[in-house]
Amino acid sequence: MSFHTHILLLNMRITIKIGSNVLTRQDGSLDVTRMSALVDQIADLRSMGHEIILVSSGAVASGRSELKHIQHDLDSVDQRQLFSAVGQAKLINRYFEMFREYGISVGQVLTTKENFADSEHRKNQENCLRVMLENGVLPIVNENDTVSVTELMFTDNDELSGLMARMTQSQMLIILSNIDGIYTGKPTDPDSRLISIVKPGKDLSDYIQPSKSSAGRGGMQSKSSVATRTAAAGISVVIANGKRDNILVKLMNDRDNTPCTEFLC
Ligand code: GLU
Repeated sequence: MSFHTHILLLNMRITIKIGSNVLTRQDGSLDVTRMSALVDQIADLRSMGHEIILVSSGAVASGRSELKHIQHDLDSVDQRQLFSAVGQAKLINRYFEMFREYGISVGQVLTTKENFADSEHRKNQENCLRVMLENGVLPIVNENDTVSVTELMFTDNDELSGLMARMTQSQMLIILSNIDGIYTGKPTDPDSRLISIVKPGKDLSDYIQPSKSSAGRGGMQSKSSVATRTAAAGISVVIANGKRDNILVKLMNDRDNTPCTEFLC
C-alpha cells in the first residue's frame, strides 16, 4: 500500500513529452506500432476530459533512417538540418493520419528558444497555442531543428517540454523515456530502487547517472533538472517509461501502482 494518495483531477491540461528513444527501434527506424499505441492513449486521455499538448522528438532519428542511402559525409549541422527537415515531415504526417482516425485535429508547432524569450514571438506563440487549445486542436510541438543549431538550441526536448508546460499553464508534465524513472543507482544494478516520489526541494544529484540513451540529446540529468524547475513553478512532473503498455492511462488512473518518478509541487 502506498502512503501517497493522489487526488484525481478531471479536465487537466497535460503536456506530454515523447522522447526519440521511445519512438525509434533498435535500428533507428520510426516505431510506428509504439507511436500508434501512444496515439490511442492520448485519445483516451482526451476522452476522459484532459487537454493535451504533445511535445514529440523523433524528427532527426526518423530522417536519418529515411535517408540511409546518403553516402557522402555531412558535417553535424548539415546532417541535423537535412534529417530533421525530412524526418519532421514524416513524423507529423504519421501523427496527422493516426489522430484523424479518432476525429482529432492536430497542428504542428515548430519552435526555437527565441520564442520563449521576452519578445513578440513569445506572444505570438502563446496566442497560437491558446487558439489551438480553445478549438480542440491538439498541438504537436518540436524544436525547429532546421534553424536552431549549436548555441541557439534548447538543451534538448526535455527543456522545451518544461517551457511548453509553463507557457500553456499545464497542471502536469509527463516525460516519457525508455526507462521507468530515476533510480537510486544504475538502473541495471539489482540493488537500485526506483524513486517514486520526489518532494519539493529534494536534491537528487547523488542518484543521477551521467549516461544517456543513444537516440535523443537529453539524459536523466536533464530530465531531473527540468522536472525540479517545472515542479517549482507549480506543475507536477512525472517521468515514466513510454515503452510500457498503456502507460499514460495507467499514470492517470492508478499512478501509485505504476512505475514512475513523480516530482511533487
Ligand atoms: N528535436 C529533436 C528531434 O525531434 C530531438 C531533440 C532531443 O533529443 O531532445 O529529433
